[in-house]
Amino acid sequence: MEERQTCILCNSSRFSVIHRKGRWEYRRCAGCGLVSLRNSFSAEDMVAHYEDYLPTDAGEISNWAAMMRPVIEKAARIIVSKTGKEGGRLLDVGCGYGFFLHEMKSLGWQVEGIELSDHGRQYTQNTWGIEVHAGPMEDLALPENSFDVVTLFYVIEHVTDPVAILRAVRKILKPGGLALLRWPHSTPVVKILGPLSKHFDLYHTPYHLYDFSPMTMRRLLSLTGFTDIETSIGGHTHSAKTLGRWAAFTFGTLGEVLYSLSGERMLLPGISKTTTAFRPLGYSR
Ligand SMILES: [Zn+2]
Repeated sequence: MEERQTCILCNSSRFSVIHRKGRWEYRRCAGCGLVSLRNSFSAEDMVAHYEDYLPTDAGEISNWAAMMRPVIEKAARIIVSKTGKEGGRLLDVGCGYGFFLHEMKSLGWQVEGIELSDHGRQYTQNTWGIEVHAGPMEDLALPENSFDVVTLFYVIEHVTDPVAILRAVRKILKPGGLALLRWPHSTPVVKILGPLSKHFDLYHTPYHLYDFSPMTMRRLLSLTGFTDIETSIGGHTHSAKTLGRWAAFTFGTLGEVLYSLSGERMLLPGISKTTTAFRPLGYSR
């Protein structure tokens, strides 16, 4: 068990607890608003957990593929439009079963992945013929200045040190290279649900170590040397009223189904966000 005393983004040591489950506490930083889990795992425990994280049942894998489909297609469009490229070198950190890598490969990109789960790694290699490294990323010593695009789908909220991983991403990107992150933003829904939120565990306690917002995500990427940071916000989160309606619908039907099918990672696609950021052209460190 490890407890961080200061905020990773602004170094403040003032927090207020916003959510509790058992001995776990989510807290909001008074300095910058970042929501984080107070009492986290050790890095070793996290690796051990994700080695065995993905479902292995064929039915679940195909459900997952179906749910990921729109996310994958949208991300592919964003990448082509933001980079202006029809191909290049792409790395997907936490590639799971490699569905996204397979899509990008079929579009002409040269792709590779990183995945902690043995099962995900083998599946991606055997099914798509795509090379996958066993993480964690910080230990891999990937060559610097070598990728046009690095993607992280539903990864950043799980890592013990988001600052370190994004610095590593920035280094392996070519100058002018693109990072794309897809991440859940649960706190507004937790707030609206109030005491009900205990039943749904949107933070997948204790596996989401952070719950970023567009503002704290911008701060994180800026701190780690990125520029031109843009977050696209789903239509459901524009107003509290809309969000409330949407949450009622989702939790009544779809949310529960997604939750059980996906082992949580595809929970609540409506509140997930996509952020893009570039490694500056002139950045030399
Ligand atoms: Zn802070």
